[in-house]
Amino acid sequence: MKIDKLNINRRTMLKSAAALGATSTLGLTACSDNNTMAPPLLKGAIGKDGKEVAPWTNWSGNQSSTPNERLVPKNTQELVSMIKQTNQRIRLVGAGHSFSPLVPINETQMSLAYFYGITHIDKSSKQFDVAANTFLAGVGEELWKNGLSLENMPDINTQTFGGAIATSTHGTGINYGSMSTTVKSIQLVNGLGEEITCSAENNSDIFNAARNNIGTLGAVTKLRIQAEDKFHLKETSWMMDLQEGLEQAESLRDSHRHFEFYALPHADYILAITIDKIPEAEMQEPKTNNGDAYETFRTLSKVVDTVPFLRRFLINIGASTVKEETRTGKNFEVFGNLRDIRFNEMEYSVPAEHGVACLREILTTIKKQNIDILFPMEFRYVKADNVWLSPFYQRDSCAISCHNFADKDYKKYFAAIEPIFLKYDGRPHWGKIHTLSAKQLRAKYPMYDEFLRVREAMDPKKIFTNAHINQVLALS
Ligand SMILES: Cc1cc2nc3c(=O)[nH]c(=O)nc-3n(C[C@H](O)[C@H](O)[C@H](O)COP(=O)(O)OP(=O)(O)OC[C@H]3O[C@@H](n4cnc5c(N)ncnc54)[C@H](O)[C@@H]3O)c2cc1C
Repeated sequence: MKIDKLNINRRTMLKSAAALGATSTLGLTACSDNNTMAPPLLKGAIGKDGKEVAPWTNWSGNQSSTPNERLVPKNTQELVSMIKQTNQRIRLVGAGHSFSPLVPINETQMSLAYFYGITHIDKSSKQFDVAANTFLAGVGEELWKNGLSLENMPDINTQTFGGAIATSTHGTGINYGSMSTTVKSIQLVNGLGEEITCSAENNSDIFNAARNNIGTLGAVTKLRIQAEDKFHLKETSWMMDLQEGLEQAESLRDSHRHFEFYALPHADYILAITIDKIPEAEMQEPKTNNGDAYETFRTLSKVVDTVPFLRRFLINIGASTVKEETRTGKNFEVFGNLRDIRFNEMEYSVPAEHGVACLREILTTIKKQNIDILFPMEFRYVKADNVWLSPFYQRDSCAISCHNFADKDYKKYFAAIEPIFLKYDGRPHWGKIHTLSAKQLRAKYPMYDEFLRVREAMDPKKIFTNAHINQVLALS
């Protein structure tokens, strides 16, 4: 049978390919050495009461720590007194979805798990108040019932609002900023135990710092978010020839509400994805879920591991058979994928106009250096903003993400690619892997010193720090 007659979708094609003889290597849980290969046997630290405190690992398993205390305040009053009474450092944890070492601490780890849910919806202003530890997935239905939707979302919905805002988490769409740009006001308890409310009108410097705070100003307890009238979406994904895709990227960006693509290393294809608003009447019948594209790539990776010399051939054959797929749904049903394939990630945002050139150079480098990588790169656009530590500060940007499976080494790959991001004046995502020093970051983020000034005022005792924060903010 000819390949082009198979008419299969992106998942089944690669599931069949797996039958060629690949073996599974998954099963990783976590690892403490910043690398990825072996599951660790972490022993928890002994707490004040003589009992072991469970160790912590992040989503992908590349970060871990052994806190000697885990605090879970039930309300703001308890939170204030915990901060006032602490004699050691505290790091807040949300959903643990950051790849960089923002969260690890061997002193106090604090979760605001009780700060959960929408607390108020104002239909006239289309704004709602949400407790900081609410998962992004936790608001869609309730907003919908009240006639509202988030304007945009990242490609998963299992982060918390507090964590997402801390790192300028974003989706794609050149007319849409990161989630931080939808924040209208923030309540937090700072390192002195003071309750602070900030917005563009009140405490505006604190607001500009707090909308990308990397967990260093205190504990964010509540956020007011701007939503919009609820809307339905249609997502279309299809394979494009690589050169054609790169040439059309900017026009696709400008002609769709959301546009992104996945570039397949070593191959001649991209997987393009557009998402647009549709009237309810255009909703399709729900379809069987074909699974996540990342699962597809995992399967393909296992095949390539067994026959590496067929890498390009296999990826191209696979890609050429993938058919166009569409799905429709309520806003929150279309945004936000399930990622049950674990990976590690580096992401830089370059000026939007350099995005295509930067990606071209990355793809060429991967080929030239024969880098053993199969995981596709994600290519998205994000609108400029005025958030002090935002990678999108005052420039429309193209966010390019490189990944590798969590049970594979990522360091060599990221080390080869990072200089290309720097050449194109890239700014790193604070929640993803990068190797920049405080000096380099200061040169990239024009409001870096202003951020430090607010941080010092909010947390003069440096309670909300760890080794990584000290390194990226040059604190001692
Ligand atoms: C599978 C996957 C997909 C992803 N997709 C995207 C994407 O599409 N776009 C994107 O931009 N990023 C993406 N990310 C990165 C992720 O959105 C960010 O790293 C985000 O910050 C994680 O949120 P979290 O709730 O897990 O917070 P954590 O990782 O637990 O914490 C992040 C930071 O927030 C701080 N923090 C958490 N809660 C509070 C609080 N209440 N008060 C003060 N500080 C707090 C922590 O101290 C830490 O500094 C993805 C990550 C994964 C694992």
